[in-house]
Amino acid sequence: QAAHSGSDPVRGYAPSMGQIFLRRFQLVTQFRSALETGQVSVHYQPKIALPSRQVVGVEALVRWRHPEFGQLDPDEFVPAVEATGLVDALTSFVMEQGLQRVRSWLDRGLRMSAAVNLSVRNLADANFPDLVAEALRRYDVPPQLLTFELTESGVMSDPERALPVLRRLHAMGVTLAVDDFGTGYSSLAYLRQLPVDEVKIDKSFVLGMGTDLSDMAVVRAIVELGHSLGLTVVAEGVEEDSAREQLVSMGCDVAQGYLISRPLSEERFEAWLRARTIRARGLRNETVLTL
Ligand code: C2E
Ligand code: MG
Ligand code: MG
Ligand code: MG
Repeated sequence: QAAHSGSDPVRGYAPSMGQIFLRRFQLVTQFRSALETGQVSVHYQPKIALPSRQVVGVEALVRWRHPEFGQLDPDEFVPAVEATGLVDALTSFVMEQGLQRVRSWLDRGLRMSAAVNLSVRNLADANFPDLVAEALRRYDVPPQLLTFELTESGVMSDPERALPVLRRLHAMGVTLAVDDFGTGYSSLAYLRQLPVDEVKIDKSFVLGMGTDLSDMAVVRAIVELGHSLGLTVVAEGVEEDSAREQLVSMGCDVAQGYLISRPLSEERFEAWLRARTIRARGLRNETVLTL
């Protein structure tokens, strides 16, 4: 009987599992050529300081314009890519694009950072800090203007390997941020031990703030915790002006979300930036970018 009940569900799920595997397999086998043929690109979402609204940097977010499946969001292909060695190529690609942007902003007198999301594999790669150092030299970008975002699960899956990598990146002066904070399991205890500079409050709490008092309490607690540890606190998922105002009143340092801008292609982001540069020049006769 145990054998019977054990085999039925497997047969029942077989078709959809097959489809999922096929699609994952296709995406993984096609990813490298997609990188090489320009199907993969990076979108940029601005981060603003609170309360000044000065643009302090961007998060670099990967996109894939697939010839068959259309525009793919990272949730649809990053997990598949992460399960292979190809994630090194993905991270390098996004980092190179981001550093190119930072260099071009510096050349125009704008000091803005680029944040790149890391995956577990990068943190397990003892050579990764060398790759980063080499790229920073090549673009002549100060390490502080490169941020890496990592998740709790990414660090905690193999802390013995991840910690030395993080310590080296931190010693180089690169900015480290914990992403999606509040959704993991070991938050408080481990945050103290990590060499990080920044904590990003998960967007689910920020989105819920307007309607859910417990989300509001979580956001407030993370701002206070972050500050007590000397960290910069970033809120992602800021969609409403009321959320921005509440974050200002809590003392949150940086905001990111659709209220400020959706992630934009390089071209559209540069246009967004230009519109603000012109406005800032007109208002104050200096290049301070504000929302
Ligand atoms: P994340 O790092 O937490 O990035 C923030 C996600 O929230 C982005 O989704 C962004 O578009 C979305 N977002 C920003 N503001 C708002 C808002 O106001 N409201 C709502 N509802 N959403 C907002 P995206 O671009 O689809 O990326 C999803 C996840 O994929 C990222 O979450 C990150 O974990 C991963 N990812 C993206 N790019 C890369 C990459 O280059 N490498 C790796 N390893 N992972 C990446
Ligand atoms: Mg992120
Ligand atoms: Mg996040
Ligand atoms: Mg995420």
